Amino acid sequence: CGITGYIGSNQAVPVIIDGLKRLEYRGYDSAGIAVIQEERLWLLKKEGRLERLEGILNGSHPTSGLGIGHTRWATHGVPSDDNAHPHTDCQGRIAVVHNGIIENFASLRRWLEREGHRFSSETDTEVLAHLVEHHYHGSLEEAVRRALEAVEGSYALAVICADEPDKIVAVRNQSPLVIGVGENEYYLASDIPAILNRTRKVYLLEDREMAVLTRDGVAISNGEGKRVAKDMFTVTWSA
Ligand code: GLU
Repeated sequence: CGITGYIGSNQAVPVIIDGLKRLEYRGYDSAGIAVIQEERLWLLKKEGRLERLEGILNGSHPTSGLGIGHTRWATHGVPSDDNAHPHTDCQGRIAVVHNGIIENFASLRRWLEREGHRFSSETDTEVLAHLVEHHYHGSLEEAVRRALEAVEGSYALAVICADEPDKIVAVRNQSPLVIGVGENEYYLASDIPAILNRTRKVYLLEDREMAVLTRDGVAISNGEGKRVAKDMFTVTWSA
């Protein structure tokens, strides 16, 4: 239902939680967050309110300048800790947050299970983590692109991988996703109000466009994998 992400020199966890809170008006049943700390994935996800995550963190959090977060409005699988996002691959190296519905998840899941992938949730989303793992050979954006070739449905996605600790890959199709541009830091959100207190400069992704966020900038490509030069948009209204 809600997605936020951050890459920069500040602490990712509080920025992500603050962004998710600004999307609370959309409603949700669970929340979760994943960051990369020293080339390892750290993950916390719970059914219930964002306050539950904050209660568990109790004022401390892993030191990390990169992460993604999600508030879920369940469509496939009951609200539960296991079904909360982010979802991960078998090795716990790749984490995915997703808004939308993967229409052909059942057949993808059967195929992935035959390939040896073990699932830990009932969601449509989890197939994405395993598909990206299946196609991962050192380039996260390439793996996400290959994975999405098999996917039918609507999605706004953010994907991180512990093997590439300075990168967030984001893609959308029929579900909104925006990139916020700060001073040597970048934000990701499913809706502008999540980041409006941080920056007014945004890129609005269009269907099938992919953004690769690194510490050096944002590279946006179209569905065919070709780089596109997007205009930056300045938000003039207030949330
Ligand atoms: N279909 C996904 C799920 O049920 C994502 C729902 C959402 O957009 O929050 O987990």
